[in-house]
Amino acid sequence: MSPVRRCSRTACGRPAVATLTYVYADSTAVLGPLATYAEPHCYDLCAEHSERLTAPRGWEVVRLADASGPARPSGDDLEALANAVREAARPQERAAEAGGGARRADPMEVARRGHLRVLRSPDS
Ligand SMILES: [Zn+2]
Repeated sequence: MSPVRRCSRTACGRPAVATLTYVYADSTAVLGPLATYAEPHCYDLCAEHSERLTAPRGWEVVRLADASGPARPSGDDLEALANAVREAARPQERAAEAGGGARRADPMEVARRGHLRVLRSPDS
C-alpha cells in the first residue's frame, strides 16, 4: 500500500484529504477527492488548507467534494470528472498532439460544472 499522503503546503505535515488540480487553460483550480496518484499539476491538501484555499487573482475554484455535503461523494461521476479535468490540465501534450500529424476534429464537451468545461477529443 502507498504511504500516507501529506499536505503539500510548506510546514504542514497533516494527512492530505483532498487534491487540488490547476487547470491553467481555464484559470480554474479544482479541489476534489484525494487523487489516486500524484501528478505535476496536482497538490494534496489537508482539511484545513482545503477549507482555507483561495484561488489566485482571476481564477475560479471548483470544489467537487463539497457539493454533496459532509458525506463522501460516492458517484463515479465526480471521479470521472476529476480525471477528465486532470487530463485537460496537460496543455503541453495537447499542443503536441495538435501540432503533429493529421488535424483532428474539434474536441467534444464531455462535462460541465459551472463555467468549467471539460473537453476531450472525439477519438480519445
Ligand atoms: Zn495543510
